[in-house]
Amino acid sequence: MTDLRAIYQELILDHYRKPRNFVALESPTSQARGHNPLCGDRIEVYLMIDAAKIVQDVAFQGAGCAISTASASLMTEVVKGKTLAEARSLFDEFHEMMTGDTAAVPRDLGKLEALSSVRQIPIRVKCATLAWHTLKAALDEDSSQSPSISTES
Ligand code: ZN
Repeated sequence: MTDLRAIYQELILDHYRKPRNFVALESPTSQARGHNPLCGDRIEVYLMIDAAKIVQDVAFQGAGCAISTASASLMTEVVKGKTLAEARSLFDEFHEMMTGDTAAVPRDLGKLEALSSVRQIPIRVKCATLAWHTLKAALDEDSSQSPSISTES
């Protein structure tokens, strides 16, 4: 377990120092902003969704702590290439992993599991979920979807 934790920590630090997809898309099909007042994390998520409802590109900008930045970076990596339905389902599973009653991970979430230890620090959970809530708002904003934007946090 200690070794696994060390690997997870390394992964989080790596994504913090070299965030992936850390750019503003020039013409996103949808975008959303998120803010975590508890920590001061701010993020903007950009999506490029094609006619087949596949997330062709996803990127983010913003400034925040190591956990929020690493979580956003990991989120863009796993969501890229997914369908809208798959992206929503990943949100649900990640959210369950971070805030659910049980510590059990719903299924193999791969490297996203690196963030599961953040559960033990409740005040940082919102840092880890910020990018995902912002992703969900951007998915909801997609013109083909329901226009309502979730502000749930
Ligand atoms: Zn934070």
